[in-house]
Amino acid sequence: MSDLTKMSAAQLAKAIAGKEASAVEVTTAHLDRIAAVDDQVHAFLHVDREGALAAAAAVDRGEVTGPLAGVPIAVKDIVATKGVPTTAASKILEGWRPPYDATIVERLRAAGLPMLGKTNMDEFAMGSSTEYSAYGATKNPWDLGRIPGGSGGGSSASLAAYEAPLAIGTDTGGSIRQPGAVTGTVGAKPTYGGTSRYGLIAFSSSLDTPGPCARTVEDAALLHSVIAGHDWRDSTSIPKPVPDVVGAARLGATGDLSGVKLGIVKEFAGDGSEPGVLSAFHESLEALVKLGAEVVEVSCPHFQYALPAYYLIAPSEASSNLARFDGVRYGLRVGDDGNRSLEEVMSLTREAGFGPEVKRRIILGTYALSSGYYDAYYGQAQKVRTLITRDFESAFERVDVLVSPTTPFVAFPFGSRTSDPYQMYLADLFTIPTNLYGGPAISVPCGLSEGLPVGFQVMAPTMADDRMYRVAAALESAVGTFTPPAL
Ligand code: GLN
Repeated sequence: MSDLTKMSAAQLAKAIAGKEASAVEVTTAHLDRIAAVDDQVHAFLHVDREGALAAAAAVDRGEVTGPLAGVPIAVKDIVATKGVPTTAASKILEGWRPPYDATIVERLRAAGLPMLGKTNMDEFAMGSSTEYSAYGATKNPWDLGRIPGGSGGGSSASLAAYEAPLAIGTDTGGSIRQPGAVTGTVGAKPTYGGTSRYGLIAFSSSLDTPGPCARTVEDAALLHSVIAGHDWRDSTSIPKPVPDVVGAARLGATGDLSGVKLGIVKEFAGDGSEPGVLSAFHESLEALVKLGAEVVEVSCPHFQYALPAYYLIAPSEASSNLARFDGVRYGLRVGDDGNRSLEEVMSLTREAGFGPEVKRRIILGTYALSSGYYDAYYGQAQKVRTLITRDFESAFERVDVLVSPTTPFVAFPFGSRTSDPYQMYLADLFTIPTNLYGGPAISVPCGLSEGLPVGFQVMAPTMADDRMYRVAAALESAVGTFTPPAL
C-alpha cells in the first residue's frame, strides 16, 4: 500500500498545495489501491479512472484551487453524476447516466476533488448492511465475513480499506453514521437542509441528508464545508451561513471541553446494546469528563416511538418518490413487445427491477397513505415526529449536545439479520430520532468490542453542526483513530 493512501485528506491537501505530491500521483495511488483490493471489498459499483485523472490534472495545472483541491473522493451511487453511471444499486436504473450533476457533486468538482467512482449501497438506500444491493454486498475491511453497515456501506468501507480518503454518503435514518460506526470511520449527518438534496435520487424527501464520510473528524469537517450551504434548487435548503465546522473541529482537537454539557438519554438505556458497545461508550464518556465536560441525564420520552414512526413516514414518502420508476422515463423496461398495455409493462418492469426490501417499503407506504388508513398511520406518525422534535428542543435547553452509542451492535455476519426485517431495522435505533427532528449528528470511532469498531454518536441542535464536530474531535484526540487489519 502506498503511503499516499494512508494519509488524511488534510495531509494530502497540504502535500499537494506544497508540491510534495501531485494530484495525479495521489489519485493514481488510490486508483491502484482500488484495483488491488476492491475484488475483496466490493466498495465500488463503478470506477471512473479517466474522469478522476482528468480532474487531478486540472488541479496540477493550477486551474482549480481550494482547501481540498486534488484530494480524491468516492461518491455514493444514489447521487447523480453527469455522464457517470448512477444506479442507486438497483436493477431498475442499470445503465442510467444522468444528464446533470447533483449540487454537491458540482461543488466537489468546483473545489477540485477528483471523483474516483460510485460506491455500493443498499438498493435505494433502504437497509443497514448493503446486503440489499442488487449488485452484491460490500465486505467490511475489518472482517470480510461481516457487513460494512448500510445503506452507505460502500462509502465507509472504501475509507476503511484505504481506497479513498473521503466519501459522500446520504443519511435518511442512519445511513452515514451506522456504516461509519461499524467500519471504524467518521460519518456526519448535517442539519437537514444544510446540504442540498438536488440531484439525490429521492428516498424520503423530508429526511434525506447528504453528508461527509472520512477517517478523521477534521477531514469530515473540511468536506462538510465544501458541500454545505444554501442551494436555490432545493426548496428545503436553509438560506443561512454554514456553521464554522472546521474551526470547531480544530478547537475540539485541543482537547478542552470545559463548560460543555453532554446529555445522555435515559430512554436509550436498556435498549439491548451489546455489552462491548456499552463499555466502549461509557469509557468514552469518562474520557470526555476528563477533558472538562459535564454529563447530565435527560429524558426524551417519545424516542421509543421513533422507529415505528420512521417506518411509516419513510416508506410513505418512498412509495410516492419511487412511482417515477415506471419503465418509461428511466432505465429498465420489461415486456414492451407491442402487444402489452402500458400498465402491464409498468408492472412487469417494477416486478423485475425492484428488490424485495424496496417492494416491502412501497407496499407498506402505499398502505399507510391509503384513504381510510392515512390518519391512523401516516397522520399519527407525523404527530409522533412533532413530539420527538419537542423532546430534542427541551433537552437542548439543558445540555449542549446529546450523546449515545451510534448503533446497538458491532458489524454482524452476513445473513444474520436478513430473514427478519425488524432485526435489520434495529441497527438504526439510536440514529433515527435525529432524522425525524432534522438536527445534525456525527459518529466517531470510540473503541473496539471483540476486535470490531464501536461508534460514539454526538447529536446537536439544528444548525449547530459546529458543536458536534467540537465534541467529536475532542473524543478523537482522547481515544485516537482505529486501523483495520491489513488487507
Ligand atoms: N437503515 C435505514 C433504512 O433502511 C436508514 C436508511 C438510510 O438512512 N438511507 O431505512
